[in-house]
Amino acid sequence: MATPRPAQLVYDFADGSRDMVDLLGGKGANLAEMTRLGLPVPPGFTITTEACRHYLAQGEEPQSLRVQVTMALRRLEDKLGRRLGDVQDPLLVSVRSGAKFSMPGMMETVLNVGLNDYSVKGLAEAANDERFAWDSYRRLVQMFGKTVLGIPGERFEDELEATKQRAGAASDVELPVDALRELVETFKAIVAEHTGREFPQDPREQLDMAMRAVFDSWNTERARLYRRRERIPHDLGTAVNVCAMVFGNMGETSGTGVCFTRDPATGKPGAYGDYLVNAQGEDVVAGIRNTLSLEDFARLDPASHAELVQIMRRLETHYRDLCDIEFTVERGKLWMLQTRVGKRTAAAAFRIATQLMDERVITPDEALSRVTGAQLGQLLFPQFDPTAERELLTKGMAASPGAASGKLVFSSPTAVEWAARGEQVILCRRETTPDDLPGMVAATGVLTSRGGKTSHAAVVARGMGRTCVCGAEELDVDVAARTVTVRGRVLREGDVISIDGATGEVFAGQLPVVASPVVNYLENGLEAALAEADEETAELVRSVDRVLRHADRTRRLRVRANADTAEDAARARRMGAEGIGLCRTEHMFLGDRRVLIERLVLAETADEQEQVLAELLPLQRADFVELLEAMDGLPVTIRLLDPPLHEFLPDRTALAVKIARGEGEEGDERLLAAVERLHEANPMLGLRGVRLGLLVPGLYAMQVRAIAEAAAERRTAGGDPRVEIMVPLVGSVMELHLIRDEIDGIIAGIEEAAGVQLAIPIGTMIELPRAALTARRIAEAAEFFSFGTNDLTQTTWGFSRDDVEASIFAAYLEKGVFTVSPFESLDRDGVGALIRTAVAAGRETRTDLKLGVCGEHGGDPDSVHFFHDAGLDYVSCSPFRVPVARLEAGRAAVHTEAGGHL
Ligand code: PEP
Ligand code: MG
Repeated sequence: MATPRPAQLVYDFADGSRDMVDLLGGKGANLAEMTRLGLPVPPGFTITTEACRHYLAQGEEPQSLRVQVTMALRRLEDKLGRRLGDVQDPLLVSVRSGAKFSMPGMMETVLNVGLNDYSVKGLAEAANDERFAWDSYRRLVQMFGKTVLGIPGERFEDELEATKQRAGAASDVELPVDALRELVETFKAIVAEHTGREFPQDPREQLDMAMRAVFDSWNTERARLYRRRERIPHDLGTAVNVCAMVFGNMGETSGTGVCFTRDPATGKPGAYGDYLVNAQGEDVVAGIRNTLSLEDFARLDPASHAELVQIMRRLETHYRDLCDIEFTVERGKLWMLQTRVGKRTAAAAFRIATQLMDERVITPDEALSRVTGAQLGQLLFPQFDPTAERELLTKGMAASPGAASGKLVFSSPTAVEWAARGEQVILCRRETTPDDLPGMVAATGVLTSRGGKTSHAAVVARGMGRTCVCGAEELDVDVAARTVTVRGRVLREGDVISIDGATGEVFAGQLPVVASPVVNYLENGLEAALAEADEETAELVRSVDRVLRHADRTRRLRVRANADTAEDAARARRMGAEGIGLCRTEHMFLGDRRVLIERLVLAETADEQEQVLAELLPLQRADFVELLEAMDGLPVTIRLLDPPLHEFLPDRTALAVKIARGEGEEGDERLLAAVERLHEANPMLGLRGVRLGLLVPGLYAMQVRAIAEAAAERRTAGGDPRVEIMVPLVGSVMELHLIRDEIDGIIAGIEEAAGVQLAIPIGTMIELPRAALTARRIAEAAEFFSFGTNDLTQTTWGFSRDDVEASIFAAYLEKGVFTVSPFESLDRDGVGALIRTAVAAGRETRTDLKLGVCGEHGGDPDSVHFFHDAGLDYVSCSPFRVPVARLEAGRAAVHTEAGGHL
């Protein structure tokens, strides 16, 4: 019987392609793709993610892997005519991890595998360069020691520093061969001391150990944490790329570089990159020596540069996007070591998308899919003046956008104290905890040296709209000494710094801030924004305009705004809102009008109550007239009063204390009695929403009258009012029937008196699980549903929305219960399931039922895609987020159209 053929676990670069990213990882798939294109990629092979998954599950490699690696290695050796670690002219390889998604928290690279005490001499002879050979060997022991054997990197770096000092060398290229030889011995001694065994001399053992270390690196705490945060599944595994070494450290005609086909920071067309002569691997990005620009590289090595430029163009045409490339020149010969679609800033994303569209490389739909609402959101924050002089101290993660300058403080109480005396402060901590909350509230910006984009600092800062840079690992924060040290420079409490939450950059001193040109465009139109813009900014603004207009043409979802005042409504309209999805009327009862509610609560007779309501009526009517005028011709959904009445009354304890101290005024005792009567243990679940309407006589009637009279007044004045009345917190269709009976009567009366037909739709919010589950019945009495996903999330999870974000969520995010707050981004599995149920059931009863959402999620990019898929008609969000929602609604439509493939 024939033995079944084992699965293919190793692929030569020549046999793969970019479609095989699941199996070969991003790096392997792209190396294969470049090989297929005939680009100069050193030969090599990729060990699949499947081999990794087997190894992690079984604790050992699949049986056939050893043999498959041997065969691949032999093919490689045959092709190059050299053998791994041979004593004469040895073949050396690099071993690099490469998962489907780039994961900076994982093991990266071991170079020069195959060198040992003998082959180093062979390499020296073959290259005719002893210094190069020993430099390569010391790099191997150092990288192998650190990434494979887990020895702290500083052990090697400290020795390297000490050797440089002894030799009087300013940089590592100046180290003479003897010093390097000595360094190798010292490094090997460090390995022996740390691991209890000698540095492995067998080349194949080095390769196998490096491969296993890459597999193991998938499950390090750091990698797991990174995946949790970035929502990358844990079961993908990583591939391992084994590639014949080419050397950038073979003297002055060699070097290594990184480049981008366009500037990833600004989106400026034209290649952009750094090159370092006589260097290898990470030297370029490590910033240990000054790099050269591509223009310098062109002067230095015109032939290699010309070839690189041609390849860059080829790759960009092939990938139809900005490519990020690593290359090496070995004695005048160019080699490509890596490429991928490059990361970019928000501004670059918009500019590049429209550039590629104009170059007819991508379609307008694709251009739309290449930018995100989050990127547009970033462009709306004020920015540091790009023309100002700046001194970069370090860079961390861009956690919460904005541009903030202030004095450094190191504790929450200091932040609060200094802010109270009018200082702008930046709270700098190693990481923040819930105890730091007061300081974060007081600070203009938050800076931490640890933690990622979903660390406590980041989450809380974003929630509060506070600028935040986190995980700036170069910062050494000493809270006790009230100092922070960065690259040897000590900053003290009170020193001024500036942080850019959109780029993660940290600058010394105060930087001037300018308003966002994109906001200028949104508020005042294209012409006005272009009039003030320099060339680069003008291109950005034009790009945003074009992409947004395409989104508007493409989207199915309408976008409305949550706005309570005529001023907000006007701004929302300028931002592109197509109506108001939620006007919260409670905001109209604050300020001077609070006393009227107080009187309403204290009224002892029906007459007194009516009197107060009669006083409120003209005020409310005037509010609505203004609002309808600002949104003339567009729908305006006005919600009847929702919050419990005690929210309008004085605080219970404060009032009791005042009375106990004998400082009470006339009527305070009565007021206290009313406050006590209305006190609730769980006000969010108490006398609010439609329950108020049913239990407080005349209140909703007054509001409905004000709305209908305002609409009639606008109509008589020649306007086009399109008001809709919305009832909050309904749980049963019966509640809605009862309220509707009253509303319908009032509207009919006003229509008759004014001699106009108002046609005011009446609908309800869906904010309770019961409402969603009984939507079929509720739709009998509602002409529209608007999902109040704030309350629906609160009631579905049983989380008090005002309390949990601060107290529980930081821990829940850390423990991975969820990766993002369900109040920020819709919980599709739970709340989303209720929404889908309600949509289907509601439309069963009423096919033309209008469906929208007005919770915070209406402006959240990810949630907008859900609402599109769920078949809603519109989303409603705060005016500032309207452009983001427009963009994402367009992207969602394009995505659906393309079957999810764009
Ligand atoms: C909601 O619950 O989602 C909603 C929009 O209402 P509010 O936030 O005012 O409770
Ligand atoms: Mg609500």
